[in-house]
Amino acid sequence: MASVNKNYLNLKENYLFSDIARKIKKYSTDNPVEKIIKMGIGDVTLPLPLVAVKAMQDASQEMGDKNTFRGYGDEQGYIFLQNAIQNYYFSNSKVSIDLDEIFISDGAKSDIGNFSELFSNDNLIVIPDPVYPVYLDSNIMLGRDIRLVNGNKENFFLPLPSPDLKGDVIYLCSPNNPTGSVYSYEQLKIWVDYALNNNSIILFDSAYEAFISDNSLPRSIFQIENAKKCCVEFCSLSKTAGFTGTRCGYTIVPKELRLDGLSINNMWRRRQTTKYNGTSYIIQRGAQAIFSEEGIEQCRKNIDYYRKNAMVISDTLDEIGIWFTGGINSPYIWLECGRDSWDFFDFLLKKANVVGTPGSGFGKCGEGFFRLTAFNSYENTCIAMERIKKLFQ
Ligand code: PLP
Repeated sequence: MASVNKNYLNLKENYLFSDIARKIKKYSTDNPVEKIIKMGIGDVTLPLPLVAVKAMQDASQEMGDKNTFRGYGDEQGYIFLQNAIQNYYFSNSKVSIDLDEIFISDGAKSDIGNFSELFSNDNLIVIPDPVYPVYLDSNIMLGRDIRLVNGNKENFFLPLPSPDLKGDVIYLCSPNNPTGSVYSYEQLKIWVDYALNNNSIILFDSAYEAFISDNSLPRSIFQIENAKKCCVEFCSLSKTAGFTGTRCGYTIVPKELRLDGLSINNMWRRRQTTKYNGTSYIIQRGAQAIFSEEGIEQCRKNIDYYRKNAMVISDTLDEIGIWFTGGINSPYIWLECGRDSWDFFDFLLKKANVVGTPGSGFGKCGEGFFRLTAFNSYENTCIAMERIKKLFQ
């Protein structure tokens, strides 16, 4: 008789964004007059950089011509895109990576979820709280033993390993979703040293690195000495280049990284060649264009637009005296709401017609906090902040 993976029963029902959508729908049906401004979901709103659109159009033409048509590509990605990423890495963070350490994917989420397959079930998994829920859920699905490390106001939502922490596989996210906090060099070094001393591995999610504007902050875990011996880095074009619906990411798996005498790079290649048939050629051409000089400039303009929104939000919160993290090096602003985060959601929806995300949706330490995103239009962001200002003054 077939039976199912019962670990799935331990997952929380994914009520967060469907609950939010249901509440908005009900509220807007009952109160059709005021415009509701949505600053909840972490999806981009600006269209793709033109340079990527053009490259994908050209690639589509190639696929329709028998002289230039391509079938299956390398599972690991095309060399033209690996080259572009290698150059970007070096110019962005002064990190040198080899081409065979770069694995192109359809986004960071699937790689982060799939990477957990490489570790045996007796590993202790360390996950910060609050954080992007994929780390927790993908490990619950496998029935893993999970330790949460608490983010809070005292540590600015940047937890560090305590002396008694036991952990084998450690997830870190910087800039963090949902808190927008970014680890410093010194703080990341503490984690890297912990991993080296304990034969642990760090799975580092840098999906928001392009939002870092403070040059004193690290953009890649590989900027920390010896990190190649104990870290993997997941990168995404979703927020950097508006690829949330286009889908492309890349994962850096250093060849120096070994566990139990085995190369993690070889294991990941083996996994990908077996279970993944490569990212679409057309999309990889679009991604290559993103890393051109023109592409980087077009992405920068879009990110600057979101940054300006983040600034409007942070200035407003400063003015009305609400404590927050994020906003400067991240599209997320994580504010202290000082009450149950769902109560605050209802309060903000009813009194200001503004939607955000209750912090409790990102972990127990998110209770009492609330996430706003900078992804709406500038005009709407300004209107929303005027309403919030009125409400709190
Ligand atoms: N990592 C973090 C921290 C995210 O917030 C997200 C998406 O919101 C992802 C990864 C997913 O990236 P992708 O769209 O490349 O799958």
